[in-house]
Amino acid sequence: MIAPITDPSVIEGYLTDASNVHGHADGLLRPRSTEEVSAIVRHCQANNLALTVTAARTSTTAGPVPFGGLLLSLERLNRIGAITHDTATAQVGVYLGAFQTEIEATGRFYPPDPTSRNECTLGGSVACNASGARTFRYGPTRPWVEALEVVLPDGEIRRFKRGDPVPAAWPVPQWTEPNVKTSAGYAPAKDAVDVFIGSEGTLGILTEVTVRLTDLPESVLGVLAYFPDRATAVAFMRAARAAAREDRTGTLSPRCLEYLDKGCLAFAKARIGAVPEGAGAAMFCEQEVMACGEDAHMAAWFDALTTSGALIDETLFSSDPSSRASLLALRHAVPAGVNEQAVRNGMPKVATDLSVPDDALDAMMDAYEAAPMRNALFGHLGDNHLHLNLLPSTADELATAKAFYVELARKAVALGGSVSGEHGIGKTKKNQLALMVDAATLESFRALKLHLDPNGVLGRGTMFD
Ligand SMILES: Cc1cc2nc3c(=O)[nH]c(=O)nc-3n(C[C@H](O)[C@H](O)[C@H](O)COP(=O)(O)OP(=O)(O)OC[C@H]3O[C@@H](n4cnc5c(N)ncnc54)[C@H](O)[C@@H]3O)c2cc1C
Repeated sequence: MIAPITDPSVIEGYLTDASNVHGHADGLLRPRSTEEVSAIVRHCQANNLALTVTAARTSTTAGPVPFGGLLLSLERLNRIGAITHDTATAQVGVYLGAFQTEIEATGRFYPPDPTSRNECTLGGSVACNASGARTFRYGPTRPWVEALEVVLPDGEIRRFKRGDPVPAAWPVPQWTEPNVKTSAGYAPAKDAVDVFIGSEGTLGILTEVTVRLTDLPESVLGVLAYFPDRATAVAFMRAARAAAREDRTGTLSPRCLEYLDKGCLAFAKARIGAVPEGAGAAMFCEQEVMACGEDAHMAAWFDALTTSGALIDETLFSSDPSSRASLLALRHAVPAGVNEQAVRNGMPKVATDLSVPDDALDAMMDAYEAAPMRNALFGHLGDNHLHLNLLPSTADELATAKAFYVELARKAVALGGSVSGEHGIGKTKKNQLALMVDAATLESFRALKLHLDPNGVLGRGTMFD
């Protein structure tokens, strides 16, 4: 096996992620091939050494943060392979955004778009079953994965393609996931590929991924709409969502329906000023231009926005990339403002990742709006999956924020939702997973983990204690 790096000053750069949890490790390995990964895994199994996979460390749940043992960085497995009409293949360490750019240069399209796509890896996005704004139209990462090369916890290198059966001896949990966007717990996999997607580095190490491609839209219309309040914004979302579900290629068939509440607009106003008087909520949406043409889309959007009570004179449509940039500037001003406020407060923000069924959206939004401190609520309204960003400014408020998050998770579960729409469980949300699944289901997750990895070497502390 290649020798681990033990210089603490090098290892230090790998010990935390976007959750701000800080870990420790005895050594860092940066293999250049799948065979080297396999040798490392065999060594760790033989010596019962914990092995944590680290990719770009954008995780918000401490999945890549090690607590002892060795750290495996896949940054050198970063080659892009064949891109054909139907599929594209790359090693896992490639940045997702760079992979998508290469694909789009060939006129094809790989839709999954976590906001972090320029900072996260392809492997990390598959390991977490990442989602993004376009998930509303295209679903999460899972259905786009066609094949995987995986190093199993015993060091064996396996290739699985979509449709390959789960090996008969593997006790894959058969449970009913909440009928919402979810990335919590092991999937009730119907094929071998699905076992590993979303398994957060606990069941195997992904080394290469083949994804399915679709048509690259010829052009995309961006829409930034302001509303007097939440109710009008939600009414518009419901109308647009119903239209999109009825006809995926209709004049009103958005690919994303993203919400910004009044707390967000306050941050946007402070940073870029351009927020109209009377706006109490906003939505950022995109429409791929279909055969009906741009004018037909604009007319349909205009109608639906007017009917739902949007501040129609303030609505911005943009079809060219430069004017779309000004729409995106507002959308990006919000997380930037939230993060700056957290730095000013000297306290980490506490951000939720809960999703609920359609009929529970209003109740969940009521619960978010009862937040006991400054906050900003934004995200994927079309998927009933919003991120409440709580901004505590004292240690007491931080404790309150964490307790409030657990209350919200209970509420989401009671409403039939998931404790993770897209970020996974990692090391920080194990208590929430236990709110969502019963003891028998949790035990079935553990049985699969122990079957594949009896010593619990991979991703120790992630998903299970
Ligand atoms: C600003 C920001 C915005 C974000 N936006 C989104 C969003 O819109 N949607 C979304 O879903 N998430 C989002 N995230 C969360 C995060 O970006 C995603 O979960 C991403 O997929 C993680 O990729 P990564 O390469 O950074 O992986 P890491 O954070 O390094 O690792 C994540 C987990 O995957 C495991 N892992 C990584 N690579 C492999 C591999 N090759 N084999 C096995 N296990 C592996 C790790 O062990 C860890 O448990 C965001 C995060 C930030 C900081």
